[in-house]
Amino acid sequence: MRKSIKTIPQVLIETLGCKVNYYESQGLAASFRHEGWEVVQQGSPDAVVINSCAVTAEAGRQSLQSVRRALKRYPGALVALTGCEVVADPEKVFEIKELGAIFGNGGKKDLAAQLTRRLLGEQVVGAKSDPVDFSGELEIDFLRADSDRGRSRAVVKVQDGCNSFCRYCIIPYLRGRCRSLSPDKVLSECRELVDAGFREVVLTGIHLGRYGDDAGKSFSLTSLLYQLVKKIPDLRIRLGSLQPHEITPDIIAMLLDPEVPVCEHLHLSLQSASDRVLGAMGRPYRRPEIEAIFAQLAEGAGRLAIGTDLIVGLPAETECSFAETYGLVEKVELTYLHVFPYSPRQGTVAASWPDRVALADKKKRAKKLADLGREKRDLFAQANLGKKLKVLLESKKEDSCIGPAWFGHSRNYLPVLLPISVATQRLQAGAEIEVVPYEWKNNHLIADC
Ligand code: SF4
Repeated sequence: MRKSIKTIPQVLIETLGCKVNYYESQGLAASFRHEGWEVVQQGSPDAVVINSCAVTAEAGRQSLQSVRRALKRYPGALVALTGCEVVADPEKVFEIKELGAIFGNGGKKDLAAQLTRRLLGEQVVGAKSDPVDFSGELEIDFLRADSDRGRSRAVVKVQDGCNSFCRYCIIPYLRGRCRSLSPDKVLSECRELVDAGFREVVLTGIHLGRYGDDAGKSFSLTSLLYQLVKKIPDLRIRLGSLQPHEITPDIIAMLLDPEVPVCEHLHLSLQSASDRVLGAMGRPYRRPEIEAIFAQLAEGAGRLAIGTDLIVGLPAETECSFAETYGLVEKVELTYLHVFPYSPRQGTVAASWPDRVALADKKKRAKKLADLGREKRDLFAQANLGKKLKVLLESKKEDSCIGPAWFGHSRNYLPVLLPISVATQRLQAGAEIEVVPYEWKNNHLIADC
């Protein structure tokens, strides 16, 4: 029995997975507000929406665990599941009889309206596994800029889907083929965000480096960046993940020019630096191209943040190929690492490969790389002590490790704390100010104006 509806119904949205999913949750929140709901983080909501991830078997398991936890924690609420896990594992999803509604990725734009009708007593049409859109221009009309007023950074999804079919990855089966948002629509969304008070956008996509491919290359990520920089000069732009062969000389020039408002931050999706493993994965670049990109970025050493994703323990990865990856990471100017132990995902080519790497070896390799990542991050942060950094103020923290302080990120993505003082208390969230950090403490730079 559902509890009675409050005057203003409340919804809690839990998001798992990538930036694209977070962006779509912002859009879901906006569409719920449009339907008259209040979006809450806690309490006793009328509905809970789990926006799931299925990028690995483990992510899928965690998504279903979130559903079970929500059913237990909010016994009176209507619990709905959406996102990639619905498309990846419909049988497992439909086994959870207590789920109130189920929507695939394509159903997200109608989700708020459907739950509103459901709460008013109508029957919701839950899609078993709605067809994946394999063509057409990317639609983002349900995700508008009013979604998260009061924050200074917004994610903008300019691309969806993927044509690459890396052998370990399920995403192309769940998100369909590459679709790009036209530059005009990106510009208009970014203008709306600036008008709503946002100062920075993160351009993101499932395969951002292929932005424009579906439009016969009549536009590209590079041309989009030029337009944004020229037409919305007040906007700080941060790039989502790119592969080495997708980074053009023009993008490098923008990243390295402090006068251009493209943040000095590159997230390189490497996954491995062993040609044997890259070949098995079906990735289109090899180690010489990775090394060439780092050579071109060398001018930014010490100020350009370069992060990467690495998968360890794919069946093709021997101790020797892991050592190749580790050796490259050690040598180049990477400043942070996201390390993932491989877990086979049913439905992918790699899931059928024999010669699995033992769990203990996977864990050992992941830890070794993660330790190296922490060392590199500390070194990079320390290299920025005493330098002028442009920091976007995001929020006030009353109980930070230095007491009340402003929190924000530098253009090169270092987290910064600035003590609240007579000089800083009148600043506003969303302002970009120049600071000079003097200490690296508890994973934050501590700075003065
Ligand atoms: S590029 Fe490869 S890893 Fe990335 S989404 Fe596409 S198939 Fe998956």
